[in-house]
Amino acid sequence: MFIPKRVIFEKGSLDTEIGKNIYNRLKDNKNVEIINTSSNKIKTHIPGDNLFEQYRSGKQTLVVGERKSLKFQTCKPSANYQLPLVSGCMGSCEYCYLNTQLGDKPFVRVFTNIDDILDKAKQYIDERLPQITIFEGAATSDPIPLEPYTNALKKTIEFIGKEEKGRFRFVTKYNDVDTLLDANHNNQTEIRFSINTPRIINTYEHHTASSDTRIEAAVKVAKAGYKIGFIIAPVFLYNNWQKEYKDLIESIKYKLPNEFNEQVIFEVISHRYTTKAKNRILEIFPETTLPMKDEDRKFKYGQFGYGKYIYSKEQLSEMKEFFHLHIKDYFPNSIIKYVI
Ligand code: SF4
Repeated sequence: MFIPKRVIFEKGSLDTEIGKNIYNRLKDNKNVEIINTSSNKIKTHIPGDNLFEQYRSGKQTLVVGERKSLKFQTCKPSANYQLPLVSGCMGSCEYCYLNTQLGDKPFVRVFTNIDDILDKAKQYIDERLPQITIFEGAATSDPIPLEPYTNALKKTIEFIGKEEKGRFRFVTKYNDVDTLLDANHNNQTEIRFSINTPRIINTYEHHTASSDTRIEAAVKVAKAGYKIGFIIAPVFLYNNWQKEYKDLIESIKYKLPNEFNEQVIFEVISHRYTTKAKNRILEIFPETTLPMKDEDRKFKYGQFGYGKYIYSKEQLSEMKEFFHLHIKDYFPNSIIKYVI
């Protein structure tokens, strides 16, 4: 659960249910600064003289306010639309793709007008009838650490559960799932857990839940009847990677109940980086040990006009073979969407 260092309430947000919940839960915490603002100059309240400090202050800041634009972004190929409940994330993963997306002070913003957002989702579903419309709840955020304050995911899950042609999915690196367990999801929500080996999590994924607690949370939601999936990413090919990733797959298998026989969905993504991301990471994490030597990688042009540094063809085929073999070994019934 996210305990920020400062909370910035935008005008009118303290009159909303979500605003009141957040205020009541944090007002007596001496380590949390409460700021009310009527201007839209949020960033002036977030300290820091350089990118290194601004990044850390941003990550400890929660902004509470209304979602003004109700136009949803498309979210291909995994869903039709993003469903914006939260933007930003309290985690500080060194390789996070949001590092280049959220500006110099990457604060977390929670939206208070959830009913307006769900009304809009309903409109999108109706426009696409009779086709199914899939919404992604974690395109620019990790919504789980704020759920204890907002109940926004639960509300969304129950809303989608009633929509015959609606589907919802989101991914998380956290474990605050208890309030979702009794939601009437009607099997229309898929919860994916982004996981990695304990070595990678401990080294690069600061302020996130451990591998074990994520798997335990996955077991809880699986027992509550949700469809579950695992995104193993980013995969790093370090010394001993085969043993540690095999142990990870095995630990998922043995934490799930014996009788669990539902299809588990796996997505596996190797580590890659762009020059822009690398430069940003080196400013925010100057001591990083992320493997980003361009000469060790293959440069591949991407579809959006910039290139990425990826593992070599031989390394990627070894990785593909490895994950297909071991995932199918422990989860014969699983769907492996891709190993890339
Ligand atoms: Fe980025 Fe996800 Fe880590 Fe948050 S938890 S910093 S969104 S990779």
